[in-house]
Amino acid sequence: MNKMNVILAGRVLVGENLKKQERACVLVQEDRILDILSPAEYEAIRDQVDTIDLGDATLLPGLFECHNHLALDAGLEGHLGMMELSECEHTVLAINGLKKDLLSGVTTARCMGDRNYIDVKMKQMIAEGRVDGPDLLVCGIGMRAAHGHGFVGLPHCGVEEFRKTSRENMYRKVDHLKIFMTPGTPAASPDEFIPCFITPEEASVVVSEAKSTNIRTTAHCVGGRGLDICIQVGIDVIDHLYSVSPEQIRVLENEFGGWVDMTSGIVLDEGREAYTPPAQNEKMRKARAYSTECINRVYQSGKIRFTLGTDAYHGMLYKEVEYAVAGGASKLDALKAVTVNAAAMTGLHDIKGRIASGYLADFLAVDGDPLEDPHALSRVRFVMKHGKTIRLES
Ligand SMILES: [Zn+2]
Repeated sequence: MNKMNVILAGRVLVGENLKKQERACVLVQEDRILDILSPAEYEAIRDQVDTIDLGDATLLPGLFECHNHLALDAGLEGHLGMMELSECEHTVLAINGLKKDLLSGVTTARCMGDRNYIDVKMKQMIAEGRVDGPDLLVCGIGMRAAHGHGFVGLPHCGVEEFRKTSRENMYRKVDHLKIFMTPGTPAASPDEFIPCFITPEEASVVVSEAKSTNIRTTAHCVGGRGLDICIQVGIDVIDHLYSVSPEQIRVLENEFGGWVDMTSGIVLDEGREAYTPPAQNEKMRKARAYSTECINRVYQSGKIRFTLGTDAYHGMLYKEVEYAVAGGASKLDALKAVTVNAAAMTGLHDIKGRIASGYLADFLAVDGDPLEDPHALSRVRFVMKHGKTIRLES
């Protein structure tokens, strides 16, 4: 039998409710968590295990980045124009981005569209140990309308084109199918018309194709009629959601059985303007006040199930947790949105997203207590994925 590891930390956020346990010890064997021990139980076996002592740090489940792209790096100037780069350049971007994600404590990432099936290939290479990165959930080719938004997507027109790409994606064994319903920029006021580029029939065929192989569907959707269609046809996850009316909030609370995946930093983080074109920055500035109002309706609802993603701002997921808390989510719900609830949204809740016996040994440890201060998530000292230490700072 391989020697076991014990991770000691000042506090450990344990189980489905991230319950704080002071001075807990996590026993790991190979890629799994065997048990959570008390200090006395650890003393009894300490000679038989290797110990990683993290001092006063907080140990929590590895994070889920729920809106990622591999061949995009939102921290690079002009990144939106990089979609036409060569496959080789995209591969280099992907390897660099994956490394940043993993070192920041992201041990699972949900990819939301890349060219050339780079996401499918990287998922496989990571699983085989040939590339370092989080475990990936992938969508292959994102489907946008011929006349619609979607930097990373490819154009489609009519039900049969959406069906064909859905099947091509499923043939490559993707985890979800992605469509682009609306523009990327949010509305500046409740009166602004939000175009919707995909018809109910086109969206519906993607949903029925996904159901045929029991995978999920996800939609880029800022709001408007596109949101009504997503709910009507049964899209599982709605991404972005910057322009949502009070009536739509009520439908999301009472009739929608799926999840929303929030990416607030795209609109709220002024620091990201350095990497995007001036015309887009101008639109974002005009939309910021109304978007904040809408985003906060989601965070303050308490009834809408949400997860968080950066949209390819690699290593910056902690900022999304901060935006959720600033917008009115409880600190516990914001932290669950990148751990246990993200595992539920992606269907991985039986093996990932919490510190419990039998779960994969995916962790990060941070200085401070992220349940008191979300910014603690930026102070990463330790990352482990599948029982293997990725980062350890004294
Ligand atoms: Zn995206």
